[in-house]
Amino acid sequence: MISVDAALHAVLAHARPLDAVALPLAQALGRTLRRDARADLDSPPFDASAMDGYAARRADLAQTLRLIGESSAGRGFAGALGPGECVRILTGAPVPAGVDCVVKQEDTARDGDAVRVLHRDPATFIRRRGENRRAGDLVVPAGTRLGPPELAALASAGVALPEVTRAPRCAHVVTGDELVAPDRTPVGAQIRDSNSTLIAALLAQHGAELVAQRALRDDLDGAAAALAELPPHDMLLISGGASVGDHDIARALLERAGYKLHFHGVDLRPGKPLLFAQRGESLAFALPGNPVSHWVVFHLFLAPLLRFLESGVATPLPRLTGRLGAGGRLPPTDRRHTFWPCRATIVDGHPELTPLALASSGDAAGLVGANALLPLPPAGSSFAPGQTVAFIPCP
Ligand code: AMP
Ligand code: MG
Repeated sequence: MISVDAALHAVLAHARPLDAVALPLAQALGRTLRRDARADLDSPPFDASAMDGYAARRADLAQTLRLIGESSAGRGFAGALGPGECVRILTGAPVPAGVDCVVKQEDTARDGDAVRVLHRDPATFIRRRGENRRAGDLVVPAGTRLGPPELAALASAGVALPEVTRAPRCAHVVTGDELVAPDRTPVGAQIRDSNSTLIAALLAQHGAELVAQRALRDDLDGAAAALAELPPHDMLLISGGASVGDHDIARALLERAGYKLHFHGVDLRPGKPLLFAQRGESLAFALPGNPVSHWVVFHLFLAPLLRFLESGVATPLPRLTGRLGAGGRLPPTDRRHTFWPCRATIVDGHPELTPLALASSGDAAGLVGANALLPLPPAGSSFAPGQTVAFIPCP
């Protein structure tokens, strides 16, 4: 059985970053930029007013100015300013030739074409051409995950079709004779399938594309036939049947499909029977069926893998420090568990961690509120409320 760190290392060592596609900005949220994006023009592209007011010459401000026209956003003033003249100007409008300051509206009094300056501000209220960015300046570096500010920056730089990593394609199958869909009422030995919903939501949240999702029975032949029909994918997740029970088919299923086993079993609870295998570019995982195992395994291995597929950069699991809250239930430290799902909140400006009161790793509803994983201390030591701990944020 290998350690969590060794398992993550093995997963990333067998992954290859995905290829790039050009996507419209509206579809590029969350994707990773592949080339440096540079400004094609100066920003602003002309000297522009920062205020609503009057464009004038500073030397004339003691006298009453004569209004000769207007410069508004998108419609500049064509002429040049002569001595004693001013132009009505609005925020974002081009500053006319001959102007060296904008007097803001609040500092003026106007009577028809006559404008008097009541207060002379030392500021010019002119945004100079190129003061934000010069043509050719770096706007968003390659490797950046595109959030709303980065998308807006690309838009302003004229990068309408950024080259980004394509979304990782994932296929998911749940196995289990006991499973019924969420809209059905289980009878007898049945239970509802919550893992399909959990995995679909986690994949969507992490920018992956779910290309197929199937519910299969614990029947090797039938499952093998269904697996052969899956559309192309970068990642295959098999839920349930990962262990060595009589009806645990995942390993045999993958071997029959030509996958090469990299590891089966990780020193991790919940999630110990985790299996990782590969066939060409397809990376497959068999996850123990318990919903809590799914959530833990996703954040420890699958989220870092998705990030690597998109960025080509192996980043360590993020760690934050916080205080263990006095409320909630302290997780057991009996080594039956090594990671515990928690709720991290900000209390008095600092992260505070509340371990979730999970009845068992089959407790899907017990995961409600989970947004952090707490690595538990080695056997023999224990946690106390108020103690500072390191945890893994699970956004
Ligand atoms: P398995 O890994 O197949 O042995 O399943 C372990 C436990 O997880 C069993 O109690 C299963 O009933 C449960 N389980 C398996 N698949 C799911 C699922 N899709 N949704 C909810 N529970 C599941
Ligand atoms: Mg099963």
